[in-house]
Amino acid sequence: MDIVSKEVVASNGVDKVKVYGLKTGKLAVKKSAHSTRRPGLLSTMISFRDSEYGDWLPVWSWLIVHPEGTFLVDTGLSSDVNQLGYFKKLDFVSKYYFEKQMKFDISRKEEIDYQLKKVGVEPELISKIILTHLHIDHVGGMKHFPNIPILVNEIEWKTKDGAFPVLFPSGMNIQPLKLESRYESLEKCHYLTESKDLIMFHTPGHTRGHTSIALISNGNRMYLFGGDVAYSADRLINKTFSATVKNYKENIVSCKKIIDLAKKMKIVFLPTHDIGNIERLENNDEINVY
Ligand SMILES: [Zn+2]
Repeated sequence: MDIVSKEVVASNGVDKVKVYGLKTGKLAVKKSAHSTRRPGLLSTMISFRDSEYGDWLPVWSWLIVHPEGTFLVDTGLSSDVNQLGYFKKLDFVSKYYFEKQMKFDISRKEEIDYQLKKVGVEPELISKIILTHLHIDHVGGMKHFPNIPILVNEIEWKTKDGAFPVLFPSGMNIQPLKLESRYESLEKCHYLTESKDLIMFHTPGHTRGHTSIALISNGNRMYLFGGDVAYSADRLINKTFSATVKNYKENIVSCKKIIDLAKKMKIVFLPTHDIGNIERLENNDEINVY
């Protein structure tokens, strides 16, 4: 299944918000790069010798049809990765990594524009794109949204950890955001709606500018589109990361912040690469911190 949806009552207790998970293909990395207790360059290099890949990981984007607009969180993979020589503009190590150390499975008809049309949304009707970070499996669909505002943490836009601007389409309407507000225990937030129920907040570690996106619904339930802060709900609890994490310690702190918040409010955790996302959204399964 590559589409899942849920209608929730908005934070004002009246309006409805519809959340769609849209899958844009899948990817895999080498087994020891997928899960390591010592993320970093050395672990990444060691993983090059692995013969086995880890499990296929789905790539989810999230469409939020909200009274204030239609928001898309991340844009997924592009089938351009299948083109011979697509990565040739990158530096030698990055090119080698994408060509020899990763596997992709995405067809043109699995890209985000097709997925949006399947749920009756024309890509040009998206109000705003919201990016958790700039890795290729989150920005691959940007090419389908010329002129539409693309919101990204200013730190992420400046640092571009593990991002490849040479692959970005031209003519994008990037709008870097300063995260200067606060929500509950979370600092470095930015409210994306007037009703303050859609929030970008800083969850650094995977990249220095990585963010997670929270939708607050009626009854104080948070739908948390966690990007790659952890690849799955289990990994969030167990603090398991991939080798390519930029700052391991910061990533642990980001996970702890989410877990601490889950002690105070109901959080349905929906990261980009979790095979459990469909069930979790359908059943409102919350992070169980006890
Ligand atoms: Zn990433």
